[in-house]
Amino acid sequence: MTIRDFSGLGRVLVSRKMKLFRVSGLGRRTILIYIVTIVVPAGILLYLGIKTFELQRRNLATLKAEKVDVDLKEETLKASEVVFAGGTHPIAQYWFEFENGEVLRPALRSGWRRDIPSEFAEAEREELSEEWHKALASYRALARTETWKALALAGVARCLEKLERMQEARALWRDLALSYPDDRDPSGRPYGIVANISAKNTAGLYEKIESGRWELSGDVAEFLLTTLDPQRKSAYLQRFEFARELEEQFQPQANLRENITYESRFGDRFVLYRTDAAGKVTGFSVDQEWVAGTLLPQLQRKAGLNDVSRPELVYGGAIALAILIVSAGVLVLLRDVSREARTNRLRSDFVSSVSHELKTPITLIRLYSETLLRHGTLGLGEQERSDFQGIIVRESERLTRLIDQVLTFSRVERGDQTYNLEAGDVAPVIAEIVDDYRELLERSGFSLKRALPDSTPMVRFDPTALTRAVVNLLDNAVKYSGDSREIEVRLDVRGADVAFEVADHGVGIPASEHQKIFERFYRVDNGNGKGGYGLGLYLVRHVMDAHGGRAEVDSEPGRGSRFRLILPVVTEWANSASS
Ligand code: ADP
Repeated sequence: MTIRDFSGLGRVLVSRKMKLFRVSGLGRRTILIYIVTIVVPAGILLYLGIKTFELQRRNLATLKAEKVDVDLKEETLKASEVVFAGGTHPIAQYWFEFENGEVLRPALRSGWRRDIPSEFAEAEREELSEEWHKALASYRALARTETWKALALAGVARCLEKLERMQEARALWRDLALSYPDDRDPSGRPYGIVANISAKNTAGLYEKIESGRWELSGDVAEFLLTTLDPQRKSAYLQRFEFARELEEQFQPQANLRENITYESRFGDRFVLYRTDAAGKVTGFSVDQEWVAGTLLPQLQRKAGLNDVSRPELVYGGAIALAILIVSAGVLVLLRDVSREARTNRLRSDFVSSVSHELKTPITLIRLYSETLLRHGTLGLGEQERSDFQGIIVRESERLTRLIDQVLTFSRVERGDQTYNLEAGDVAPVIAEIVDDYRELLERSGFSLKRALPDSTPMVRFDPTALTRAVVNLLDNAVKYSGDSREIEVRLDVRGADVAFEVADHGVGIPASEHQKIFERFYRVDNGNGKGGYGLGLYLVRHVMDAHGGRAEVDSEPGRGSRFRLILPVVTEWANSASS
């Protein structure tokens, strides 16, 4: 075994790909405990809460419905008092009078039966035997007395029609309708209607009848309205329909007492009625549409029956909120647990990595020191001895750097890391670091291309910290160069910044890892197992943040990486330089 083989000892370290959000066994246990002790009981409580609320809601609804019922009865009774006292109220639909099993009002049949006076016998006979001229003269004579004026004028008008003296007849009908609108013909039909019909003066007559201008019996009203407009269905006639149903189905209670309101239901009807001393029943049918459409909603609103949906909404919202909070809690816990687990894992990785890293230089130093000691000045050539000593010095330096990095990290973590920033030209400092490093690179067979200007605009920087950052990038370029042996460095001015760049043609980094590599302990598994413990770039970023600058990376797997340190140019200097 040659001594060189030992240099491989330190590469035992296995780099691991970090998995975000991987929950450890401990995390799973925590979540399980959380679910069992919080989520499940909360769910049960929520369920019971909903059930109780639902029950209460139903009870309340029943109570309210009962109250509405009572209120409705009360209101109806109050309204009936008004109606029976002669007032009007929207609850009263059709007024009725009822006696001995017969409906008096709304009258279904015309009770009008008037015998034609005996004075008209002659005129009537002449009219019947179509002696129009004679009849005309007779009616005209009758019309001279005030007593039968309207009846006689109607006869005159009829005869004029027969004699085809239409103009005169019409004028007479008009006159008759105007002067005696409330007189009735022998069939009980008001001249206000029939004379107007004969005069063909019917505009607005239908509506006038519907408005109740004349009190008409059902048969007369029906006849007149259908004569005026056979197509139209009048709401006015519905009162007679009611009267018909009343007559067929209504049965007042026995032994009615005065001034007490009774109620009765038949078919779809609901009527309230009273009786008077003579035993005549008067009452009205309740307008159920008005009750359902106006009164009931009013009472329901008063009882708060319509508000059932509001507490439901509030309660639903509260439940949704509770579920949301519990879910959010679970999520936050999950995230915290997985983050904690990850940090723990990273920390233990870190400890083992550092131990490994320390072991390599120590082993080498001990090995070469022992060899030198054992062989003394004998057995080793001059060249070999100086090589061994070189290795011891190099490994000691590596050890120092390593310990330095760990100490810096712990200062950064504690918040004790300070930087001593001073404005200056960064070019000579960078050139010196690169020169120092070149020797090491060339010894390992690397070629270094450099594009460094003699000076750059002033930036504020801490030379020690910046040196550490630059060396870190160069170290990484070497570590992750794969088979390539070319590294480039470049320093230039970009806008208001000075940028230092280290480029290699090595293994590269997938885009998904570009941000993560700057996190502490983070290492990409790029399969080469090169030493390190994921602190270098974390510290580089810390240094750049402290400088008011930033660290950037462009990289592609298999094509190499380009790391950049960007420092802002000092503005006062920039201003004074340009003026
Ligand atoms: P390490 O000590 O592991 O090198 P760093 O913080 O310096 O830690 O780098 C973090 C990770 O970034 C490394 O493990 C490596 O996977 C990746 N990396 C850094 N520099 C390069 C580079 N020049 N080329 C490819 N990968 C790199």
